Amino acid sequence: MLRRYFTSLLRSLRLRCPLCGQGRLFRGWFAMHETCSGCGLKYNRGPGYFLGSIYINYILTAILVTAGYFGMYFGTDIDRDVILWVSAAFSVAFPACFFRYARSLWLGMDLFWDPPEAKEFNPDESRGGQPM
Ligand SMILES: [Zn+2]
Repeated sequence: MLRRYFTSLLRSLRLRCPLCGQGRLFRGWFAMHETCSGCGLKYNRGPGYFLGSIYINYILTAILVTAGYFGMYFGTDIDRDVILWVSAAFSVAFPACFFRYARSLWLGMDLFWDPPEAKEFNPDESRGGQPM
């Protein structure tokens, strides 16, 4: 089970289908493929499905901004206004850069805990639909 989890995690970090590791998740910076080219899995599992990825992105951003802010505030002599502007810029730029990984990690985590049913595969693109 642990091996399966790390396999799914590594595939997510490579922005590949967490189930088969073959298909790419994204076709652009923000645009996702609808199904996996390897196994035919439909990535969007329902309305509002990727809302959970926003939580991942938000939590990680909040942790990094908080740690960075206090680290610079107490650990350096940088002006407070500069620290504030750097933190504000980071809190806008980081979520945009991490967007794809947040979605990928969300998909991998969700597929691990809630494996897909046969109806979640596109039969036209499926090559057996065999996970991992
Ligand atoms: Zn796949």
